[in-house]
This record gives sequence, structure tokens and C-alpha cells, in this order.
Amino acid sequence: QVKERGRDAIEFFNTDMADKVSQQLLMEGDLHRALEEQQFELYYQPKIDCLTKAVVGAEALLRWQHPVKGFISPVDFIPVLETSGLIVDVGAWVLIEACKALELWQSKGLWRNDMRLSINISPRQFRRKTFVQDVSEALSARHIPDNSLDMEITEGVVIQNVDETISTMAQLSDMGVSFSLDDFGTGYSSISYLKSLPVSTLKIDRSFVRDIVEDQNDRVLVETIVTMGCLLGMNVVAEGVEDEEQLRLLKKYGCHSYQGYLTSPAVPIAQFEGFLTR
Ligand code: C2E
Ligand code: MG
Ligand code: MG
Ligand code: MG
Repeated sequence: QVKERGRDAIEFFNTDMADKVSQQLLMEGDLHRALEEQQFELYYQPKIDCLTKAVVGAEALLRWQHPVKGFISPVDFIPVLETSGLIVDVGAWVLIEACKALELWQSKGLWRNDMRLSINISPRQFRRKTFVQDVSEALSARHIPDNSLDMEITEGVVIQNVDETISTMAQLSDMGVSFSLDDFGTGYSSISYLKSLPVSTLKIDRSFVRDIVEDQNDRVLVETIVTMGCLLGMNVVAEGVEDEEQLRLLKKYGCHSYQGYLTSPAVPIAQFEGFLTR
């Protein structure tokens, strides 16, 4: 009997795996087409100063409207872009699109020169031999203000080859690109990277912010991260701020800015411009 159940379990496991693989392949095909047929769009989420509530910048977030299935979450399709290598082309598109937006806002007089637009950079895109060149070309192809682009990277970018990462970051810094460490606190050895990497901003992951009002441990963690970031001379941003009570605590701890539904989710470009004209 045990044997039989064992066999069932294996079969179940196999079909489950096969299902996953075929779903992944289907999505991969759809994603190929998505790039060709311009189904991607960038949405923008404002970054807000905790004290003044002024807009200090934005994060560009990729959106995919599937022709049949509608909006699909990046959480579901970014991993497929990553494993298939498609992220390299899509990432290049994001970079160009973000530069286009910066040029537009600059030309409309909407962009203050102390603001930054952040784009998310995947490890594979970052490690590409031509990455620095790609960025240089994207920046010089447009009339955009100096020092207006920020790149959000995760530990995944750093983990493989620290020396090479530092050298790439240094070259990009020379072009006026700044760096934010995304999802801070969720990985393994984030703290040691803070010492060696030219990162100017620390982004506290949403999972720590979510329960700060109720959870004493999360409160301690967030306060500690903010304090550490400040003492290291970094800019600290909190992700996923949804209510005033969370914001009150973040302010109390000295957090500089935040993103979250309290102010706005990521919105299409035209709607985002409303935040810049206020
Ligand atoms: P992330 O970079 O950590 O982005 C923050 C995520 O939190 C975004 O999810 C954003 O919409 C969401 N968020 C912001 N404020 C709130 C809030 O108050 N409440 C809640 N519940 N959520 C909030 P999104 O847009 O679904 O993106 C998920 C992840 O996908 C991103 O996490 C990022 O890792 C990745 N991603 C998105 N766009 C790109 C891209 O262009 N390139 C790459 N490589 N990755 C991207
Ligand atoms: Mg991000
Ligand atoms: Mg993040
Ligand atoms: Mg996050």
C-alpha cells in the first residue's frame, strides 16, 4: 500500500512538474510576442519625502497586458523573463523607455534636477558585457538632465562577482547613475555589501514595513535598518507604505522617503505627470 501511494506521489509530482514546464514554455512564447507587439508598458510610482510629502522621484515598474489574459503580475512573468534570457531585451526596452520619459518630463518643465527615476535591473542584464555601453547610448540618445537615472539592484546582481560588479557600478556612476539596494533585508549578507558597493540608497522591503504597526519585532528591524542607513550616510526609502500610522513610525525613525498605496500605486505616464505638476 505504501508502495502504491509512493508511486502515486511520484506520478503526481511528475505531472505537476510537466505542467509547470509547459506553462513556462507557453508564457515564454507569449513574452516573445509581447515585446514584438508592444504589450509592455512602464508604470510609475512616485517616491515621496516622508516629512514634506513632496515627490522626490519615481520607480518605473513593468506592466504586461496579455491580449487574452489581461494584466499579468511582474511577480509571475519576471522570473520567466529571467530564466529564458528575454530579460536582456526587455530590460533594454525599459531603459530606453525610461530615458524617453525623462526627456519628456524635462521638456515639459516637470522634472526638478534633484529628482531621480529608478529602473529595476536584473542580474542577467547587469552582467551583460555591453551593459555599460547600452546605458551610455541610451542616455546620450536623449536630452535628459544629468544625474536623473537611478538603478535598483538586488543582491542577486552582486553575489556572483563582487569586483566586476564594483567596476561596472563605478563606470555607471561616472555617467551620473546612482544605485539603490532593493528589497533590503530579504537576502543573505546584505550588510557586508553596504561597505564595498557605491550604493546611495537603501530600500526597506515591503515585508518589513507591512506589519510595523502591530509587530514589535518588525518595528525594531525597520528602526535598525533606517538608523544604520542614516549612519552610513545613505538615503533610506521604505516600500509598501499603505497607511498614515506606518508613515508616522517611519518618520519617527528618520526614514527619508517612501513609496506606497498611501500616496499612489504605480500609474500610467499621463497620470503620473499629475504628481509632477502639483
Ligand atoms: P520591487 O522592485 O521591489 O517593486 C516594488 C513592488 O511593490 C511593486 O510590485 C509595487 O507595485 C509594489 N508596491 C508598491 N507599493 C505598494 C503598497 O503600498 N502595497 C503593496 N501591496 N504593493 C506595493 P510590482 O510592480 O508587481 O513588481 C514586482 C517586482 O517585479 C518588483 O519588485 C521588481 O523586482 C520586479 N520588476 C518590476 N518591473 C521590473 C523591471 O522593469 N525590470 C526588472 N528586472 N524587474 C522588474
Ligand atoms: Mg524596485
Ligand atoms: Mg523593492
Ligand atoms: Mg520589494
